[in-house]
Amino acid sequence: NRKPFVAANWKLHGSRSQLERFTTACLKGLSDDVETVLCPSHVHLDFASNLLAEQSLMKLGAQSVSQHKSGAYTGEVSCEMLIEAGCRYVIVGHSERRRLFGETSFIVAEKFAAVRAAGLIPILCLGESGAARQARRTFEVIAEELDIVLEKNGAMAFDNAIIAYEPIWAVGTGKCATPEQAQEVHSFIRGRLAEDTPVIGDKVRIIYGGSLTPANARDLFAQPDVDGGLIGGASLDDQAFLGIVEAAK
Ligand code: 13P
Repeated sequence: NRKPFVAANWKLHGSRSQLERFTTACLKGLSDDVETVLCPSHVHLDFASNLLAEQSLMKLGAQSVSQHKSGAYTGEVSCEMLIEAGCRYVIVGHSERRRLFGETSFIVAEKFAAVRAAGLIPILCLGESGAARQARRTFEVIAEELDIVLEKNGAMAFDNAIIAYEPIWAVGTGKCATPEQAQEVHSFIRGRLAEDTPVIGDKVRIIYGGSLTPANARDLFAQPDVDGGLIGGASLDDQAFLGIVEAAK
């Protein structure tokens, strides 16, 4: 009874013309059985919002946001600005933000709180490195990343939130997690939330991200605790993205 959820994270890619082509193709191909979200660059949000106006098949999300409401934070974008640009969702704590832009788990928890307080829906990314997996520390890393958000926000904050499990070793590497690897971690995350608040455990959608393609998505999405996907590379191609959405039905 959890509606499948598939989001496109365009990262530092895309142009207005690409957005036009992509949204035109997607709005023809999508149906109501899967919730879909497009996350282009901040600069393209307004433009994409116009392309996605007056329909509800594809919604708009941002890739990142400031934890601050306003102030002397050069280069940052606030939740209110995202709302004005037509956003409903925000990716929080993507591994690229954590690793390349110094976002600590503490900052991620603050961002999650800011997003919730503004009435936006966070897509919280969690994931272990290849080294952590090899050292059998996957659950420990996931628990650490999740617990700090839980402590600051409480389990009820996940009433309207998405969690994305994105193993760092699978992001952009062509090396997708196996369905078993994903299921094991998704079930762990769900269990941890359920321990705190059973209804939230049942309800929260946990999606997988990392080298998803139309070819491997179906087996991943068939797992009981995998509720959809967060797509990077393959989401730049409308047919590939639609193929992955189809696999989520
Ligand atoms: P890829 O699908 O390119 O591996 O990226 C996954 C991702 O980071 C989505 O947020």
